[in-house]
Amino acid sequence: MEHFDYSKSSVDGLQASSRRIVVVGGGLAGALEGLFLAKRLGSSYEIKIYEKREDPRLHWGESGRSINLALSTRGLTALDKVGLSKEVLSVGVPMYGRGIHHSNGRFEIQPYGFSQKGEFLTSISRHVLNCILLNACERAGVVLCFKKACSSIDLSNNILYFEESEVPALNPTTDTIEPQVSWDFASSKLLESDIQRTSDVSYNINMVKADVIIGADGVFSRVRQILENYTKSKFNYNQVYLPTCYKELTISPSPSGSYAMYPNCLHIWPRGHFMLIALPNSDGSFTCTLFMDEDGCPVSFKNIETNEQLLNLFTCYFNDVIPLIPDLVKQYFQSPISFLLYTQCEPYHFENRIVLIGDAAHAIVPFYGQGCNLAFEDCRILDELIELHSGNWCDVLKHFSQSRKSNADVIARLALENYMEMAQKTSSRLFLLKRRIQITLSEWFPNAFPSLYRLVSFTNVPYRDAVSLVEKGNSVFRKYLICSLCLTTLASVYGIKCLWRTN
Ligand SMILES: Cc1cc2nc3c(=O)[nH]c(=O)nc-3n(C[C@H](O)[C@H](O)[C@H](O)COP(=O)(O)OP(=O)(O)OC[C@H]3O[C@@H](n4cnc5c(N)ncnc54)[C@H](O)[C@@H]3O)c2cc1C
Repeated sequence: MEHFDYSKSSVDGLQASSRRIVVVGGGLAGALEGLFLAKRLGSSYEIKIYEKREDPRLHWGESGRSINLALSTRGLTALDKVGLSKEVLSVGVPMYGRGIHHSNGRFEIQPYGFSQKGEFLTSISRHVLNCILLNACERAGVVLCFKKACSSIDLSNNILYFEESEVPALNPTTDTIEPQVSWDFASSKLLESDIQRTSDVSYNINMVKADVIIGADGVFSRVRQILENYTKSKFNYNQVYLPTCYKELTISPSPSGSYAMYPNCLHIWPRGHFMLIALPNSDGSFTCTLFMDEDGCPVSFKNIETNEQLLNLFTCYFNDVIPLIPDLVKQYFQSPISFLLYTQCEPYHFENRIVLIGDAAHAIVPFYGQGCNLAFEDCRILDELIELHSGNWCDVLKHFSQSRKSNADVIARLALENYMEMAQKTSSRLFLLKRRIQITLSEWFPNAFPSLYRLVSFTNVPYRDAVSLVEKGNSVFRKYLICSLCLTTLASVYGIKCLWRTN
């Protein structure tokens, strides 16, 4: 805010006091972005968040996808910048490593890194995190509007249209209800005749003008769809569904309120092409996620249709879990099957006035635990760019798009690859040995042998740079190994020759 230069702002015809930034989506990325904006630009812009759901602070209903998630350094760094990391850490549960439940019943902990150096993940309820962010937004002066779903945007005038999610319960004396309008999605133009049509209102639409629009409306982003329709060939979009799906189950706290398993790790039951994981919640429970193919494999959701099939599956592969979930059958058949997908698009921005962040720009699969961390990092980087370019939105958004796209693509690939590591390799002794060597080498020679997992999870090194650093380290390691092998061979040959001669 201190560095903001109004003269460079490309918004015409508006007084400073009437400037407005609208964030579409009040989920994790949207709420954090609103907070960053309020802190940096709050005195020159009105910051509004429009969220299609009800205020989560009033309802414990549907919480989104997973009930809890793992935060790591990137997410916490962003939260720290807005002064929230301590509060979030205080309600989370630290996880110092992976707790592997082997098929033979053996349990072992594989540390993530060095816990004394802060190298641990924090398991936190998505709902609680969202509420903390929304409370902070309100304190910072962000205007929060719930039950307002963005249905369209007039891109030539930057006017957003919000549908009431339910038939409105608005107070006519304080709230403005716009007449019903219809939208020509193909050409993304408001039909003027419709604006005149004030009668027979079947639902209500609020119109809001904004100088800058932040699309933080998640994986099925409406803002992204509108951009795609409008910019057509200049916008690339790709969406891929995985054959792997998931169901969530809960391990309740024991009657005394304590955890039924060791709480400070991310539990994994790796079983090759399917796995079960469990993250601790601060109330003593665990949220388990069962990842399996929807169809096509002997062990798949399609093949678990009866109580007997379910109990067979758990007896064969997750036997130690059965006593921990007494109502397993009920939970399993009540929990919906959720799909996993990743999306990629380009560019993330439109001119100097619209930008996509979080899952709206780049949804990734959850196997590296980085989706939310990536989204929070988006907010921090966007804030840094606003400062760097003194609020020149054209430069801010262009640079944001360029730098975030290449990094998001890298973590999207790593997240896909990590499924195999979690589901298969964590149970392999060879993998374990390699990982122990890697951790030790990266501790002794952090520059020569950086560990990818540590760079991704416990630093803010851009994902792209993390991969190149590791590749460089690996090639140095390989050269070092080859040189040592050659030297050892030469020394052995020479030794044998000397022995031969003396004999
Ligand atoms: C099973 C699973 C486990 C995961 N685990 C982790 C993890 O351990 N660590 C991690 O970092 N990430 C994890 N993730 C990823 C993480 O959940 C997402 O990356 C993160 O939620 C993205 O936040 P977001 O705000 O961009 O999107 P969302 O959280 O989806 O929020 C989007 C918001 O926009 C609102 N909205 C949608 N459309 C509109 C509209 N038209 N108008 C107004 N509002 C709208 C929605 O109601 C929602 O509140 C996991 C994901 C899954 C599926």
